[in-house]
Amino acid sequence: MLDALFEPRAIAVVGASTKELSIGNVIIRNLQTYGYRGKIYPVNPTAPEVCGLKAYRTLDEIPGEVDLAHIIIPSRFVPQTVEDCGRKGIKAAIINSAGFCELGEEGARLQEDFLSRAREFGVRIFGPNCQGIINSDPAVRAYCNFTYTYPDPGHISVVALSGGVGSVIMQALADLGIGQRLYASNGNACDISMSEIVRYYGKDQGTKAIILYTEGFANPRAFLEAAREVTAKKPILAMKAGRTEQGAKAASSHTGSLAGVDIATELIFEKTGILSFTDEGEMTRAAMAFATQPIPAGNRVGIITNTGGPAVIATDVLVACGLDVPKLSERSIERLRKSQLPEAALENPIDVVATAGGAQFRGALDVLLEEEGIDSIFINFVTAPFADTHEIARQIVEVNKLSGKPIVCNFLTNLSLEGFRITMRILKEGGIPCYANPSDAARALGALAKYGRLKKRDLGLPEIFADVDAAKARSIVEKAQRAGSSVLAAADVYTIFEAYGIPVAGWGGAATAAEAAAAADRIGYPVVVKVDCAQIDHKSDLGGVAVNLKDAAAVRATVEEMQSRLGSFGRLNFLVQKFLPGGRELIVGATAQRELGHLVMFGLGGIYVEVLKDVVFKIAPVTGPEAREMLTTIKTAPLLDGIRGETGVDREGIVNLVQRVSQLLTDLPMIQEMDMNPIMAFADCVYAVDGRIRI
Ligand code: ADP
Ligand code: MG
Repeated sequence: MLDALFEPRAIAVVGASTKELSIGNVIIRNLQTYGYRGKIYPVNPTAPEVCGLKAYRTLDEIPGEVDLAHIIIPSRFVPQTVEDCGRKGIKAAIINSAGFCELGEEGARLQEDFLSRAREFGVRIFGPNCQGIINSDPAVRAYCNFTYTYPDPGHISVVALSGGVGSVIMQALADLGIGQRLYASNGNACDISMSEIVRYYGKDQGTKAIILYTEGFANPRAFLEAAREVTAKKPILAMKAGRTEQGAKAASSHTGSLAGVDIATELIFEKTGILSFTDEGEMTRAAMAFATQPIPAGNRVGIITNTGGPAVIATDVLVACGLDVPKLSERSIERLRKSQLPEAALENPIDVVATAGGAQFRGALDVLLEEEGIDSIFINFVTAPFADTHEIARQIVEVNKLSGKPIVCNFLTNLSLEGFRITMRILKEGGIPCYANPSDAARALGALAKYGRLKKRDLGLPEIFADVDAAKARSIVEKAQRAGSSVLAAADVYTIFEAYGIPVAGWGGAATAAEAAAAADRIGYPVVVKVDCAQIDHKSDLGGVAVNLKDAAAVRATVEEMQSRLGSFGRLNFLVQKFLPGGRELIVGATAQRELGHLVMFGLGGIYVEVLKDVVFKIAPVTGPEAREMLTTIKTAPLLDGIRGETGVDREGIVNLVQRVSQLLTDLPMIQEMDMNPIMAFADCVYAVDGRIRI
């Protein structure tokens, strides 16, 4: 439980300082200024008093019970202090001090030291090298942080590893006039993790939405599990920095090189239904809508506008966000006629025109509220000087109170005029999220609707195929491990595929021309001959693939020719395979991710895959609905259905194959990279014709 951290009844500040602007001073001042409801105990070996409070020389001189300690002393003293906290019965410590694992070996040793003492005494550690927490709850008012933005109470909770970004978000929310509930920025996060904090926010009654900023996860699997639980209850809006290609490691497989830099975090967001943002402004503006508005039941937006153009912009952005601005029913239009001015446009957008007053806005709002074909309301409200803007605002607020449908408002005004500031205040105090332009308002509504969609989606459970021979596949991999080989031989690869029921083209292995001819006779002509050698990644680049061989003589001649030309790579083996021309070439692959499992890739295959980069990823295990989504989200998805009279491909065959691959990866975590390129897809069947596995 993190209550001791977020709802401390008494706080000790170890390293309390009489020096103004020092952290040990600022934290106490912040607690006082913010109106902390509990007791503050400064700990200082010499000063009798800090910030007007009696100071104690040691923790154990403190007379009362303490829940939380701030530790702001040189790193070398931290381990002893953590132990002292334990002896005093303190349950959590925020270590603001730096000088730990971010500072090399000596720092890492100190971190280990305080951590082991913390575990021994049951003290939970927040940080080190961090800001701290804030709890705006009027019953708590804990500002355990050295920053300078004092959030009003509200419903948005923030967690950010980086204190700098945390401050940016906190300030952005304050600038928008949005209150905050809980805030946490935990720096090195050596003990209390982001996953735990997110879970805590998930359970916190006062938190309606969570904002999260990260640069990656120490334990992505744990985060995935936590996020999945929380997004079922409330929205998480998240941003991850560090998306550039610069860190992309060179990988030898198609899948490895296409996965690029840390796409895993983005995939975790997708899998768990987290709303992902690339812009902190957009994220905080969306949070403003989540703070007061309900989640729409569907995608259909009704627009009310008293100015034409901005409604057009809004419509474009709404549609780009996956929303719909549908026609209104005849009944609604009939009803509108009664309340609207003669020059109003009774469609969607409803243009009430600039001269509209409170009655016209109210009439339009009531119609949209009752219209069954509308799930949310978008208002463009320009403050015309000749209209009673206060009355319009009051009507909007009134309807907002009645409404189960979310309302967002693009509020176009001149805030240097006192009167319009009042209009704005009426709207904001009435819980209407106001935006300065139509696109921002539309995107915020888009985020509400997206959360609604994500909450309703059902990804199902991973299918477990019973007809697989897991033991056989495992024994092959273990044998290769013992032999110290990292790239599996073709025969091993295809045997593993077959053990998992993955359809492969008829095949046989061969070491000599005669064996190859015999295998070809068995498989049936025409066949393909491929060189099989751990040193050769892309066989056709080196002339190591010969297709459409029609008889044994051609097979023999091909093998002999490859032997003489490619012999310098080492001992060559050969794979003889049924020639299966005319299919759509697809790719399925996998790459292992630290502490997460595998990413499974699907896309357009063949030799141009790295150029076209038309691939999508999912975190294994991949469920049926997820596999189907992969098929529809590649750019060339229409090719799978067939264009210009071609027949489409066996989609369910691919879905089945992807899920079998997923099961294979779950069973064999030692697989580092895997490629099936291409999968030959036909109208009623699919076959893997090239496979590569690296362990
Ligand atoms: P590599 O990717 O190592 O160059 P592949 O085995 O993928 O080697 O073969 C290269 C290309 O040859 C494939 O993309 C495909 O177009 C074609 N090909 C390979 N095997 C077959 C087969 N059994 N039937 C039809 N075409 C094939
Ligand atoms: Mg290939």
